[in-house]
Amino acid sequence: MKIIFRSLTFLLFIFTAGLAVADQYNSTKSIGAYTAGCIRNAAALPKDGTGYQVIRLGRGRFFAHTETIDYITTLSEKVNEELGGLLLIADISQQTGGPMPDDHSSHQIGLDADILFWQHPVAKKRSLTVKERQYINPQSVLFPGEYGIDPNKWSTTQEQILMLAASDPRVDRIFINPVIKRELCTNYSGQDWLAKMRPWYGHDGHFHVRLKCPNGSASCEAQAPLANYGDGCDELVTWFREDGTVKTRRKSGTSVQKRLPDECIAIMNGKY
Ligand SMILES: [Zn+2]
Repeated sequence: MKIIFRSLTFLLFIFTAGLAVADQYNSTKSIGAYTAGCIRNAAALPKDGTGYQVIRLGRGRFFAHTETIDYITTLSEKVNEELGGLLLIADISQQTGGPMPDDHSSHQIGLDADILFWQHPVAKKRSLTVKERQYINPQSVLFPGEYGIDPNKWSTTQEQILMLAASDPRVDRIFINPVIKRELCTNYSGQDWLAKMRPWYGHDGHFHVRLKCPNGSASCEAQAPLANYGDGCDELVTWFREDGTVKTRRKSGTSVQKRLPDECIAIMNGKY
């Protein structure tokens, strides 16, 4: 009897250990830093869903952590139901994550997503063709020279979209142009959600959502929270010249590219 019990315990141990190993290989994991990392078992965002359409499918940047997919689909449903809006989803991550050949330094671990401000009139009526989606360029919502928001391209809809986007507790921060943050500070001063809205260069045609490291991604490197940031409206002045335009970007010549974790090099080479 004792022997049978022991063998059963042993079998149970083997079975549980096996499940743990299987889980390690089947579940999505974000590995490394937002600017130097990768994804294991990324999920693909379907190209259409309630309240959203993915653009530029040919770039193959619609892969993400499952938590990000859930975030985007949940947000899009709310935008559709509550605002009658539609989100055009641009870059998220490549299938294995990792550095992209152009423009982004982040978007490497499946937790960053670019979403256009533009409420595309045709996309609101029908699903755009693959070709139409490929050539969509985010329209800036600012006047040329970035001195203010063009009211023809901005309305309370965009503000409410940002409010909804920031209200999900999974969101760490959302990058927007300083001019847009200035507008939000004028209209919503003191409100908690503004703390997540972070001014950054560009980001005048899309906003960039960054989720926190999800549970189960032990080697995902979280970003340090900003101390005493409040709603962030006070520090905004540092972004502007006296005439109210955004300062030019300083060249960050000394920044060293972070090294990719070894696990990522294996994943990106298909050896895992
Ligand atoms: Zn981005």
